[in-house]
Amino acid sequence: MSIEIEKKIQNLRKELQEHNYNYYVLDNPLISDFEFDIKLKELQQLEEDHPEFYDENSPTLRVGGAVTDKFNTVRHEFRMYSLDNTYNKEELEDWEKRLYKVLGEEADIEYVCELKYDGASISIRYENGVLKQAITRGDGFQGDDVTTNIKTIKSVPLKLKGNYPDKFDIRGEIILPFEGFQKMNEEKIANGEEPYANPRNTASGSLKLQDSAEVAKRPLECLLYFLAGDYLGVETQFESLEKARSWGFKVPKISAKFKTISEVLKFVNEWDTKRFELPYETDGVVIKVNSYQQQEELGYTSKAPRWAVAYKFKAEQVETILESVTYQVGRTGAITPVANLQAVQIAGTTVRRASLHNADIIDKLGVRIGDAVYVEKGGEIIPKIVGVNLEKRPKNSIELEYATHCPECGTELMRKEGEAAHYCPNEEGCAPQIVGKVEHFISRKALDIDGLGGETIELLYKNNLIHNVADLYELKAEQIIPLERMAEKSAQNIIEGVKASKKIPFEKVLYGLGIRFVGETVAKKLVKHFKTIDAIQKATYDELIEVDDIGTRIAESLIEYFEDEKHQTLLNRLQNYGLQFKLNEEDLPTLESTALEGKTFLFTGKLTLFTRNEAQIMVEKHGGTNLSGVTKKLNYLVAGEKAGSKLAKAEKLGTVEVLSEQQFLDLMN
Ligand code: AMP
Ligand code: ZN
Repeated sequence: MSIEIEKKIQNLRKELQEHNYNYYVLDNPLISDFEFDIKLKELQQLEEDHPEFYDENSPTLRVGGAVTDKFNTVRHEFRMYSLDNTYNKEELEDWEKRLYKVLGEEADIEYVCELKYDGASISIRYENGVLKQAITRGDGFQGDDVTTNIKTIKSVPLKLKGNYPDKFDIRGEIILPFEGFQKMNEEKIANGEEPYANPRNTASGSLKLQDSAEVAKRPLECLLYFLAGDYLGVETQFESLEKARSWGFKVPKISAKFKTISEVLKFVNEWDTKRFELPYETDGVVIKVNSYQQQEELGYTSKAPRWAVAYKFKAEQVETILESVTYQVGRTGAITPVANLQAVQIAGTTVRRASLHNADIIDKLGVRIGDAVYVEKGGEIIPKIVGVNLEKRPKNSIELEYATHCPECGTELMRKEGEAAHYCPNEEGCAPQIVGKVEHFISRKALDIDGLGGETIELLYKNNLIHNVADLYELKAEQIIPLERMAEKSAQNIIEGVKASKKIPFEKVLYGLGIRFVGETVAKKLVKHFKTIDAIQKATYDELIEVDDIGTRIAESLIEYFEDEKHQTLLNRLQNYGLQFKLNEEDLPTLESTALEGKTFLFTGKLTLFTRNEAQIMVEKHGGTNLSGVTKKLNYLVAGEKAGSKLAKAEKLGTVEVLSEQQFLDLMN
């Protein structure tokens, strides 16, 4: 029986691995996401029931979960060098001359051109075909061990295929494709948070997130370009790329071999424009001497190989006129200055507006209305102004004075200590804030109110029917019917939709309130932990940050929100209308005791007295809380047989009490 189960688990792992490979490395899925999920769930269940067959490289672990408090510093066995840059034909030809000087005029040199992927470099060690360790570049000699995070990136193979060397390091770049980056930013903006600046910094920041489950959610990819090791069994760079591809790594096909620098330059020029069609960001071409033997002869300078060079693309920059600056007001009141430009073409699109970010950046640029400005469209999706052509400054240019009052409601703008953005404090009387808040409240992930959209909300607001989200619950059909574009049916739909929203679960209501930094996940965590709105409001700062994943920023924002009397009135009204402000009783485990109240638990290793699931239910039934990883917030780690990294981490932290299964049961008796 147990052999059969083990076999089944192994087969499922193999199968899922192959599907991951098809999907993430070859971009060619053979089954639907739905079918994949079913198989994954099946494997998850089997693994949960049979922890004795644990494998740290199982596809189920791609979702992350392990938490790293501090990343260990590790030495690179082979140093990670930087690359020298060139910016024009002459510099590239100079490099060629140096090559021939070392290798001899008769040398037969072949060049390999690859794109220079713009992300965060990583070195991943494989031993006997299994991923062992992933280290950031750091200073080139040593970097941070980010293995748990790298393992969640689906295009990174956990196990290799084919005929690979016993032991080697492979190097590549962790990147965030534009599409995924944009999605992440849309979510940020929807939550009233500052969007990420560019894909590259976001990718490199992702590697250092403490919660690997958070990393797993980000659509990161790993593109590989270099092997390091003692017995690789390859002779050339080009061959190494092909081999790595055959072992299951994602190695972009856009690489080519050339005999002359003029051919290399043709490749560079071609990709200088074609790169804009790629789904990810590149900032140049890397040119490498193909032969390993020649590479060895050429060697390294103190910081870079002599056998390779980067040719940097110019960020596309154009000059145009800054005609005016307008200010946008977001749902949270944050002000964004926007440059209105004389229309201009960049990278194939017409640009009329560019972000000016905030007052500090405007000051730094020293830009005036009427100035000729340089506009760049780089990794950022929104173009930005990077400089001023002072030679063209017109005599009548107007100094730019940052808005002092809200363009929408005229209220004096404020700026909080330590924050770059100005904001309009008139939460209750500023149209875009009111409409934006209601729009957020009714959105699908929040109260999901049918029949209402942005335009209708604006219409209701303009006709003085709503001033905040609570007013929705006072709406009457007779008031709506006479409005533009409205009729009996549409009015009735709105009333019905609003009524139905009273059944929407508390966590969505909490999210819908639009408290800064309280996104969907945070709302869920808060509700699970505190269970009622009263408990959340009464929670002190210390109690808030005790909760898994609630940090200082979120705690401060919550406290500030509940301290405001306007918000209290609003909450009272919503409660009176019958919205959900506590966790549904059916979801609450009936408390059997309060023996574990205020205590946090995590289970690891093979459990014999109960399953992990049973254990977690016991914790909840006795008033305790389950955590997902070893952090300072963890009180007890219950360790079964063969407990591994979590146990080691808990012991290292020193603040976690390690219990046996029996000791855990004793806590409740
Ligand atoms: P720099 O960061 O300017 O010193 O450039 C060197 C870095 O470029 C390397 O450390 C790699 O992380 C990165 N890089 C991106 N694509 C490639 C590639 N195809 N070959 C080598 N290095 C690359
Ligand atoms: Zn305003």
